[in-house]
Amino acid sequence: MPASPSTHKALSCPQCSVVMEALPLEGHYGQPVHTDLCARCNLIWLDELEAVNLSGLGWVTLLRRMRLAQQEPTGPQAAGLDCPRCGMQLKPIHNLTSMGRFGELECPRCRGGLAGFAQLLARRGLVRAMTRRDLDTLKEEKREPACLNCGAGLEREACARGLLDEDARCRYCASPLLVIDMPRFFTALLSRHAEAVEAEHLAWSCFGCGAAVEPTQGAACRECGHLVVVPSLIELQPLLDRAESLLRGTPGRGARPHGSRLHELRGDHRATALYRMFSWLRKRFFDAL
Ligand SMILES: [Zn+2]
Ligand SMILES: [Zn+2]
Ligand SMILES: [Zn+2]
Ligand SMILES: [Zn+2]
Repeated sequence: MPASPSTHKALSCPQCSVVMEALPLEGHYGQPVHTDLCARCNLIWLDELEAVNLSGLGWVTLLRRMRLAQQEPTGPQAAGLDCPRCGMQLKPIHNLTSMGRFGELECPRCRGGLAGFAQLLARRGLVRAMTRRDLDTLKEEKREPACLNCGAGLEREACARGLLDEDARCRYCASPLLVIDMPRFFTALLSRHAEAVEAEHLAWSCFGCGAAVEPTQGAACRECGHLVVVPSLIELQPLLDRAESLLRGTPGRGARPHGSRLHELRGDHRATALYRMFSWLRKRFFDAL
């Protein structure tokens, strides 16, 4: 059961030992999710790594805090980090995505996990690998590519010269080069809040022709085909601000009293131990988002 804010024990960052900032976030159905963030190392600790289920507003708060943390320079993540709760060495979770082996760390004893900013987004399928087409688009728009994980500016020419192979990494923090997957990101953000949120209020103005591009509709402008490229959290911010007021103005799924779900399931096949085990397996392996 998640600890209440008053009982949440302060944790030291496994990498730099500074006390992490407790960051309570809104979870699904209004359940609080407690996270701890180190703004020096751009790391986030989650007590129940697999169970973390943030609401749309929870994501907005987290991304805003991540963006502020990126104002301080961050180096690469160190190897051999220990669990800030029990001291056991954290183990990498090998998660094969289109970005290769690039995963979070998990404590084998407490099941809590540690993730870098981009890792957390990548595991939930909210980002995609930066492509040559993204770079060409940014060049056309006279914008600079940036590292989504640490916010550092990347030299476009250096990226183009072959950084975009399988091992493309930021030279400051060693994160793979990623951009926000706009349709997936905004679809997830809005659908986590309510069944129907009017996404047209989130339109972004196409850099190619100026037409309104609604981010859940696709990765390119429907009028001129120009790609929507969001390489950094700073560039995401104006849309996040609009998303926040949209979410606050739309009734959410609301809090459910603790145990109400189990009560509903009593006498139902879904309340059996076998079903629960299948649900757990499905959640663990397929519902990473
Ligand atoms: Zn730290
Ligand atoms: Zn532990
Ligand atoms: Zn970086
Ligand atoms: Zn356009």
